[in-house]
Amino acid sequence: MTNSKKPVIDYANCMACGICSGDCPLSCIVLRKTDIDSYHKAYPVLDDYYLCNGCTRCAKACPMEAIKMM
Ligand code: SF4
Ligand code: SF4
Repeated sequence: MTNSKKPVIDYANCMACGICSGDCPLSCIVLRKTDIDSYHKAYPVLDDYYLCNGCTRCAKACPMEAIKMM
């Protein structure tokens, strides 16, 4: 399945659980330490925009509904 929409992560709702990263069949989403919060937790980042086929699996897996396909 190929979809031109890509996942966009709403960090205000993301709890950095990493489920989206683990569920991506193409390993497009990686967890990376950021300065998003004061704990410097590792948050998901769409690391390979072009490899992502827009399957929506990451968005469906997110328990916080923090991923929108846009
Ligand atoms: S849409 Fe599919 S391929 Fe793209 S990051 Fe999410 S799970 Fe991976
Ligand atoms: S599954 Fe959702 S809450 Fe968990 S790291 Fe990914 S975007 Fe954040």
